[in-house]
Amino acid sequence: MTTSIVLFGPPGAGKGTQASKISEMTGKPQISTGDMLRIAVSEASDLGAKAQSYMESGILVPDELIIELISNRLKQEDAINGVLFDGFPRTLNQAIALSSIVDISSVISIEVPDEEIIKRIVGRRMDPITKEIYHISFKPAPDEIQGRLIQRKDDNVETVMNRLKTYHQQTSPLSSWYDDQNLLIPIDGNKSIEEVATDISKFLSN
Ligand code: ADP
Ligand code: ADP
Repeated sequence: MTTSIVLFGPPGAGKGTQASKISEMTGKPQISTGDMLRIAVSEASDLGAKAQSYMESGILVPDELIIELISNRLKQEDAINGVLFDGFPRTLNQAIALSSIVDISSVISIEVPDEEIIKRIVGRRMDPITKEIYHISFKPAPDEIQGRLIQRKDDNVETVMNRLKTYHQQTSPLSSWYDDQNLLIPIDGNKSIEEVATDISKFLSN
């Protein structure tokens, strides 16, 4: 049976950082709703125009837009053997919609305390060419690409506080919903990038 994996956790937990390694190990393509929405905003598509103000305030984009985005993405050929969801689902409605279209084998939940999240998000930088995610202290970029790094507009202290509040109110209750279905795999995300990757790969190779 073809199954998909959910990568779950608060904003800035390290989902994107770990996703490429998990994709490599499992052969399942990463589907990040955050990345897809940012592309929609940069292309000024209808979806981008609708999503932009929510994203800039650090609140969730309405479920119907997200569910449509995911349903369309899953029709693409590379999704046929299951996918790795990153940053989706984020509400109970999204999770229920998802369970009616794919089989989930596990929900890898990267757990990180709020104080650490704030440091991670405020120091996050991205290379617009390779899309590699860096951190000013925890994962510094090589000197030669420092000049081209970008910082996300929503990666400021004020918006992070809203994103954390949104996470605790609307998203974190999903972890017990998945735990009740015996799908939740808790991973201590308050370790180095390499240690978290090792813990996840130990689980995946079992
Ligand atoms: P998410 O996709 O969950 O929002 P990211 O993967 O973008 O999170 O990581 C957020 C920031 O924290 C990035 O700057 C990344 O380099 C850094 N980071 C990720 N994992 C760790 C870790 N285990 N320890 C320290 N910093 C990390
Ligand atoms: P992070 O993991 O750092 O919070 P994302 O890139 O996953 O960042 O998301 C950025 C923003 O995009 C969120 O604050 C939210 O507005 C929107 N978004 C992303 N995924 C979803 C989703 N599944 N449901 C609703 N809104 C979403």
